Amino acid sequence: MDVVNCPRCGRIFTRISSSICPACEREEELTFQNLRNYMNDHAECTVSELSEATNVSAKKILRYIRDGRLEISKGMQGEVRCEICNCPITAGHYCDSCRIKVSQNIVDMFSEDKRKRKVSKMHISE
Ligand SMILES: [Zn+2]
Ligand SMILES: [Zn+2]
Repeated sequence: MDVVNCPRCGRIFTRISSSICPACEREEELTFQNLRNYMNDHAECTVSELSEATNVSAKKILRYIRDGRLEISKGMQGEVRCEICNCPITAGHYCDSCRIKVSQNIVDMFSEDKRKRKVSKMHISE
């Protein structure tokens, strides 16, 4: 069993498949339903329109798009940009050519993340 802190609300829960706790998962699911419903009806909406209509912050919407959990609408093209060269992308953090350049750094980031997780687990069992 993997007992972890929910990165969203901080509660301790047993991780099965999702990285957030069941309560947050339900909340996120509702949020996604709202976002998708609005995007279905307004195919040309921009991030700020969607944010206003659903009460979800633009920052969160952009994160969902970058995480690949929300598809970019026609009106949002150009709103998500590569964090390095600033060219328009539809998901993720970098465009294809920059992704290759940073792939080495991403490997480092993941290993650091694993180290941190191990530390917090040790803390709970003490
Ligand atoms: Zn939570
Ligand atoms: Zn780029």
